[in-house]
Amino acid sequence: MDAKTFDATSLLDTLFDKSILFRTGVDGLYGRSGVFEDVIERFERLVTSIGAPDKATRIHFPPGMSRATLEGSGYMKSFPQLAGCVHSFMGGEREHAQLLGMMAAGEDWTELQRATNVVLTPAACYPLYPTVAARGPVPDDGVLFELSSYCFRHEPSKDPARMQLFRMREFVRIGTAEQVCAFRESWLERGKAMIESLDLPCEVDLANDPFFGRGGRMMANNQRDEGLKFELLIPVTSIEKPTACLSFNYHRDHFGQTWGLKFADGSLCHSACVGFGLERVALALFRHHGPDVEAWPASVRETLWSN
Ligand code: ATP
Ligand code: ZN
Ligand code: MG
Repeated sequence: MDAKTFDATSLLDTLFDKSILFRTGVDGLYGRSGVFEDVIERFERLVTSIGAPDKATRIHFPPGMSRATLEGSGYMKSFPQLAGCVHSFMGGEREHAQLLGMMAAGEDWTELQRATNVVLTPAACYPLYPTVAARGPVPDDGVLFELSSYCFRHEPSKDPARMQLFRMREFVRIGTAEQVCAFRESWLERGKAMIESLDLPCEVDLANDPFFGRGGRMMANNQRDEGLKFELLIPVTSIEKPTACLSFNYHRDHFGQTWGLKFADGSLCHSACVGFGLERVALALFRHHGPDVEAWPASVRETLWSN
C-alpha cells in the first residue's frame, strides 16, 4: 500500500486481496478478518483506558433501536436519506403464497412487508437520551456514558471508509453548557494525542453534518458558524480529502428539549458526544502501517497491545 495505491478503490481491493475485508455483494457491507477485529478491540481498549479517569457508565445498546425514539429525535427531518427501518412480513398464508409468487416472478415482493417498531441505529448515542430522561432529574454534576454500537447509514460507496454498517464508540456527556463544553475540549486534546501515539497523521477541523435538502444547507452553515462539530481527519483513501475518524459534537440543549432532560431545578440539560469511528481508525492503521500487523512500528504495537 504505497502512495500509488492511495485511492478508495485500490485500498478496498488491497484489503480484499489480503483477506482483511471480505466482499458481501453490497457496497459498504463487508466481512472483517480476525486480525481486523483484533485491531478494533485493541483500539477500543485504548479509548477506554484513556477515558477511564472520568468513570463513564458503559452501556451497550443493540444495533437496532426503537422506531418511536428515532421519530421523536427529529432524525427524519435532518437525515431521511441515511435512515434504515426494519420491515417484516406480517401476512397470512394467502399473502405468503403471493410473496413467493412475486419472488419467483422477479417482482418487488418487499411491498408485502410492513414496518416493525425497530429501526437501525444511526449513531450510538441516539438510544441514550430517552433512557437517561426516564431516570428522572439529571444530577447537578451531570452524567457521562460510554457507548459502543453497530450503526447503519444508507450511504453505499466504494470508499472502504464509508460503510453502511460500522461501529461507533462514543462518550456522551449530559450536563450544563460549561460541563459538556469542557468535556468536548478535553477530548479534542486527548483524541489528537491518542491518534498521534498511533503514528497517524491527523488534523482537527470544523465540520458539518449532511443535513437534507435546501433547508439543510442553512442548518449545516449554522452548525459551522457556531462551531458545533469538529472532526479529526486522517488521510485514508485521499490526501486532499482526509477521512473523519473522530468527531466532537456539541448539541446545545437540542436533546435536552427533545427528551425533557432536566436538572432538579427544571433547567434544561445540554449535551455533547465524542464519536470514534472504529472501522475508519482500523483502516487508517492498515493504510499507513501496512497489511501485516506484526510489521507495524514497535511504538504503535506497544500502544495497542500493551493494555
Ligand atoms: P462523514 O462526514 O465522513 O460522513 P460524519 O460526520 O457523518 O462522517 P458522524 O456522524 O460524526 O460522522 O459519526 C461519528 C463517527 O462515525 C465519524 O467520526 C466516523 O469516524 C464514523 N462514521 C460515520 N459515518 C461512517 C461510515 N459511513 N462508515 C464508517 N464510519 C463512519
Ligand atoms: Zn453522538
Ligand atoms: Mg456522514
